[in-house]
Amino acid sequence: MSLYSLTLTEVAKKIKNKEVTIKEVLDDIYSRIEAVEPKVDAYITLTQDLAYKRAEELQQRLDNGEDIGVLGGVPIAIKDNICTNGVKTTCASRMLENFTPIYDATVIKRLEEAGAIVLGKTNMDEFAMGSSTETSYFKKTKNPWDLARVPGGSSGGSAAAVSAQMAYASLGSDTGGSIRQPASYCSVVGLKPTYGLVSRFGLVAFASSLDQIGPFARTVEDATMMLNVLAGHDNMDTTSANLEKQDYTEALVNDVKGKVIGIPTDFITEGIHADVKAAYDKAIETMKNAGAEIKEITLSYAKYSLATYYIVATAEASSNLGRYDGIRYGHRAEDFNDLEELYRKSRTEGFGPEVKRRIMLGTYVLSSGYYDAYYKRAQQVRTLIVENFKKAFEDCDVIMIPTAPNTSFKFGEHSASPLEMYLEDIYTVPVNIAGLPGISVPGGFDSKGLPIGIQFIAKSFDEKNLLQVAYTFEQNTDYHTKEPTIEEGK
Ligand code: GLN
Repeated sequence: MSLYSLTLTEVAKKIKNKEVTIKEVLDDIYSRIEAVEPKVDAYITLTQDLAYKRAEELQQRLDNGEDIGVLGGVPIAIKDNICTNGVKTTCASRMLENFTPIYDATVIKRLEEAGAIVLGKTNMDEFAMGSSTETSYFKKTKNPWDLARVPGGSSGGSAAAVSAQMAYASLGSDTGGSIRQPASYCSVVGLKPTYGLVSRFGLVAFASSLDQIGPFARTVEDATMMLNVLAGHDNMDTTSANLEKQDYTEALVNDVKGKVIGIPTDFITEGIHADVKAAYDKAIETMKNAGAEIKEITLSYAKYSLATYYIVATAEASSNLGRYDGIRYGHRAEDFNDLEELYRKSRTEGFGPEVKRRIMLGTYVLSSGYYDAYYKRAQQVRTLIVENFKKAFEDCDVIMIPTAPNTSFKFGEHSASPLEMYLEDIYTVPVNIAGLPGISVPGGFDSKGLPIGIQFIAKSFDEKNLLQVAYTFEQNTDYHTKEPTIEEGK
């Protein structure tokens, strides 16, 4: 068995036990990248020089008998909207094509303190706006299960890198589904932690009340290892929760007896692919057989989540992206006569069509005369959705729904209609609106052999219950053991 196909937990153990050197692990993963990346295009930047330097330092410390951390020597990929000191962070936008941060995001510091090695920065939808990674200014990332199809988005590069075994784990960001939906399309585990559990310091902001960083991994155990490192209070993020540190690995128990799993029958209705529905029904059966109690619940406001999201998220984006003016940093137009023309030209050239659409929508819903009708109303509906989940969790421990209504689609299939694209997030967006933790786990394949994801949702900061249920589902199925073909045509 090749090194690159081991799990994160396995490779970390081999390094610690000195069965392999960190350099051997790096050589192996970079040669895998060399072989597969030309087909998949998951990365924007590779950081070999830095990675080998760190590998040498870590190996020396290990050889001196030091503890190099739980992720000691493990190569990991990072979404290109997370700041890395001295390494370009482009957000897959022309606007930030040449932006090199002078500091690390808190999550990068935490990963490095735990011994991880950054392999490179991954492709994404421009400024994390999209569900297919097609809005990237640089390249199209392909789905390792069918190279003619999208990997999902916006963290498509991070999902594809883990799926194609070009990284043991990766980081993504999830504002409306950008970790869970690509995880579902690429058959990997994708975890969006509770809002406030993982620091957003150094994450380039899209919609600040919804954004959250989380891991992609090949197994629930690996995702849990990552969460243990990432979670925790950070003074640099005012929305960071100040809670006692937990050991999430305690949740890795294959047992759901006594747990109640909620099935929102009024939410999973029309617009769902028949094969996804069948996989969902089978997943319910799996959990029942594993000893969980299955209970029907109602989430009557969840269907308004998408409408709410496209007001709240665009409003926040229009404000966050105001900083890209061509003056302080980012792309600056060359020919201009006055300040206003400099702003206009820099932004016209620097942003792609989807980002412009979001800025215009957001500016509109915040403008005087429309604020009450749209933004204020959306905030009110947001509260109803939060209450809706609170009530639902009086009757169950964890909610189970599909991650996305469909499986991966072909390039260009939804590009003409933004609304069709937005509908791919119908099952993931409510979780961000309510700030809850959610995880997507490999949950089967459609008749073409394309991956399907099953999503679990828990109460705020109840990651332990979430992970235990997800782990049990994984241990009672074998979908996560299947590997992609990295070929075209399904
Ligand atoms: N696809 C959603 C959007 O386009 C969510 C993106 C995200 O989670 N970053 O906004």
